[in-house]
Amino acid sequence: MASSGVRNGGPRMSAKLDRQGAGATPKAAAGKQRLSSAAGAYRRTSSGPLPAAGGRASSDGVSSRVRVAVRLRPRNAEESAADADFGDCVELQPELKRLKLRKNNWESETYEFDEVLTEFSSQKRVYEVVAKPVVESVMEGYNGTIMAYGQTGTGKTFTLGRLGEEDTAARGIMVRAMEDILADITPETDSVSVSYLQLYMEMIQDLLDPVNDNIAIVEDPRTGDVSLPGATVVEVRDQKSFVDLLRVGEAHRVAANTKLNTESSRSHAILMVNVRRSVKGRSEMDVSISGENGHSSSMIGSLRPPIIRKSKLVVVDLAGSERIDKSGSEGHTLEEAKSINLSLSALGKCINALAENSPHVPVRDSKLTRLLKDSFGGTARTSLVVTIGPSPRHRGETTSTIMFGQRAMKVENMVKLKEEFDYKSLCRRLDIELDKLIAENERQRKYFDDEVERIRAEAQCRIAEAERECKITLENEKMKYHQEYLDSIKVLEEKWKTQQQSPKRQIKEAESTSSDVGEAHNLLQNEKMLRQSAEDEASDLKNQITHWKKLEATATAEVVKLQKMLDTEASQKEKLEEEIGVLRSQLLQMSMEADETRRSLDKGDGPGKIFPGLDSLASQTRSSQPREQSNGPKQPIAKLSEQVGLQKILSLLESEEPDVRVHAVKVVANLAAEEANQEKIVEAGGLTSLLVLLRSSEDETIRRVAAGAIANLAMNETNQDLIMAQGGVTLLSMTASDAEDPQTLRMVAGAIANLCGNDKLQTRLRGEGGIKALLGMVRCGHPDVLAQVARGIANFAKCESRAATQGNKVGKSLLIDDGALPWIVKNANNEAAPIRRHIELALCHLAQHEVNSKDIISEGALWELVRISRDCSREDIRMLAYRTLTSSPTLQAEMRRLGIKM
Ligand code: ADP
Ligand code: MG
Repeated sequence: MASSGVRNGGPRMSAKLDRQGAGATPKAAAGKQRLSSAAGAYRRTSSGPLPAAGGRASSDGVSSRVRVAVRLRPRNAEESAADADFGDCVELQPELKRLKLRKNNWESETYEFDEVLTEFSSQKRVYEVVAKPVVESVMEGYNGTIMAYGQTGTGKTFTLGRLGEEDTAARGIMVRAMEDILADITPETDSVSVSYLQLYMEMIQDLLDPVNDNIAIVEDPRTGDVSLPGATVVEVRDQKSFVDLLRVGEAHRVAANTKLNTESSRSHAILMVNVRRSVKGRSEMDVSISGENGHSSSMIGSLRPPIIRKSKLVVVDLAGSERIDKSGSEGHTLEEAKSINLSLSALGKCINALAENSPHVPVRDSKLTRLLKDSFGGTARTSLVVTIGPSPRHRGETTSTIMFGQRAMKVENMVKLKEEFDYKSLCRRLDIELDKLIAENERQRKYFDDEVERIRAEAQCRIAEAERECKITLENEKMKYHQEYLDSIKVLEEKWKTQQQSPKRQIKEAESTSSDVGEAHNLLQNEKMLRQSAEDEASDLKNQITHWKKLEATATAEVVKLQKMLDTEASQKEKLEEEIGVLRSQLLQMSMEADETRRSLDKGDGPGKIFPGLDSLASQTRSSQPREQSNGPKQPIAKLSEQVGLQKILSLLESEEPDVRVHAVKVVANLAAEEANQEKIVEAGGLTSLLVLLRSSEDETIRRVAAGAIANLAMNETNQDLIMAQGGVTLLSMTASDAEDPQTLRMVAGAIANLCGNDKLQTRLRGEGGIKALLGMVRCGHPDVLAQVARGIANFAKCESRAATQGNKVGKSLLIDDGALPWIVKNANNEAAPIRRHIELALCHLAQHEVNSKDIISEGALWELVRISRDCSREDIRMLAYRTLTSSPTLQAEMRRLGIKM
């Protein structure tokens, strides 16, 4: 198909027309609706920034064809000698971007590529035309792929992987790409990390840690993105450390291939560069805090998380494209030969399917095609360089390489920005805002209280002053009039006396002169008037008193008004506090969402649990499993707790406001669910606070969440020691005896169950009532609680059994001493599988030691053991019970006595 198509000028015309934006071949026009003149326009200006330069936008992204360059290697010494008499099998016309492949002396075919790189092309030029546009779009947040395809010895590794330490001009694409990336990032906000892998015989090997030689590909069921969680990820800060990494990887590749007795030309080398950048400008939060009225609610609506872009550059140095000799002459069996070829031939099939717009693309056929899912027909911007040699002896391989390139040119991707919201940094910023608000509120409150106090004191002073003045004036007036009154009475009395002493004369005089009487009358009249004026004065004073009283009332009214203002301010303060509460819950919500998003991104297993591991026995072994690389996407979690300020969160556990306490304990529980944070929480005294909270809080939610956090902390051995040392068992036991809520009890039981799994703590745990507490909780009857109790007993029995086997423990089981056996027997056949399994295990452990046999027989546990050895659906437990029964002389004797046969 290809040959005739080419002869007819199909691919050539197609490529040419595409570039000119004039349309597509009839076939492409019919089959590939996505090709458009807009896409053509983009190709013409392909080195510009990707979306701006054109391409057709859709809700899924911008259409972008895979770009293909062909590079010719110069003749080497051998070719120069052996092919001296022959011309090269290809002729390049770089200015026309064409390549002529000679079929024989008179016939040749012409192919057109996006770039044609002659044997004289410098490494710098190759980088600029093949790789730079891809690197630039990776820096803008798109995924990118650069891949080299060609026969062994044609210069794939030369093009991609040369370190160029001896000659700067010889540096290959990997080194130059990283140089550009490092020059463009902002170290404070962005990060770059790399993994380096080899794919051989469908096994992925870590070139940075070769022991890791069968890394699994994990696919996110939600987004379909593939990742290699098992691969080493190294954060790159400078060029030198990157070149060192490449050198280490290359050395491992050579060593691994020597060990496997293979050639590196048979394996694919894959460099993955992850770039994480935060988008500037849009990250500022437009928070407006209006001064006096505090309309802070306006800011709740305008919270916008900043944006981060996580893009990935994949550089693939493919295995040699020549066919492997299937006769096995290279030392491979036919099966091996098939497996070696599998990924490369699957890649060819996928590209054919995409080029032909076939409805089925067999991506899942090989690991390489699964890894490159995004590079062909996906969302990445992809550039392919096909390398060829000049020698006519390899015309066949050269032709097939060229045809591969031609087909790849027909593959269309839909490039898409890899952007997401950065909830974590929003959380950090919100927290800072919250602190500012709290501080501002406190300042305002203090100012307000001072002001009210000042006004009140001033008013009181004025009232006291007015009262004092009023009293003095009143007193003076009173005395003055009283004195005048007394004086006038005196005068009158004297006159009266005088008149009494000479009445007769007076009568006489009266008779004789009536004018005297008139005088007396006048005097009396005068006296009356004086009295009247005294009364007037008195009433005047009364009026004055009324006036002062009125003044006093006004002052009181002013005090009332001030009191009202005080109330209004207090209610505003309350409103402000409510809003702070809403903010806090949003903060919590967002931090939980961020954690969930991160967890689902990291693990691809949907929303995570807040209390991981509590429900499974296996969780105990979790810490011993190899962790994901901590400098991978995990690192921001540790940062989050640092920046939110663990100390601050812990201090909120003692807050006066119940609301705040609930939020704080939830945040701490969330953090405690992450193993990475546990040590810091304990160091900062969080464990003590949580234990105290568990004992002292009345709030059921707080107790439940605190118990959950303690259960999570109790998963780690160091923390178990600390819990013991801080009297945690006694506190947990007390809670176990008085808590009612099954979920709280479940968490408490889970915490004790975790402690039960620690060999060193057995005696102390029992001494402080841990086992009694566990057994006490079965009163609640909730299956979740019973499952935790059963797990604790199984853990304890296992440790005890181990200690007894090692000779570190003699005497009867402490579990039997504490009366656990009747409950174990009663629940050994519990219908809930988790409870039953734990108890069956516990029973087997107990029965392994002769000292326990008498109790086992007397409590009727022998029957349960016999049942387990026959009916248990789990083979390992069934076998364990069988072995235990057959190896114990006491149990054997009893079984003979009872006529039980095994
Ligand atoms: P491949 O990786 O495709 O097997 P290599 O990159 O190992 O090929 O190249 C084979 C040999 O050819 C090496 O010695 C390399 O230095 C040389 N070579 C390849 N391409 C060029 C080139 N463009 N200029 C000079 N030498 C080259
Ligand atoms: Mg190579």
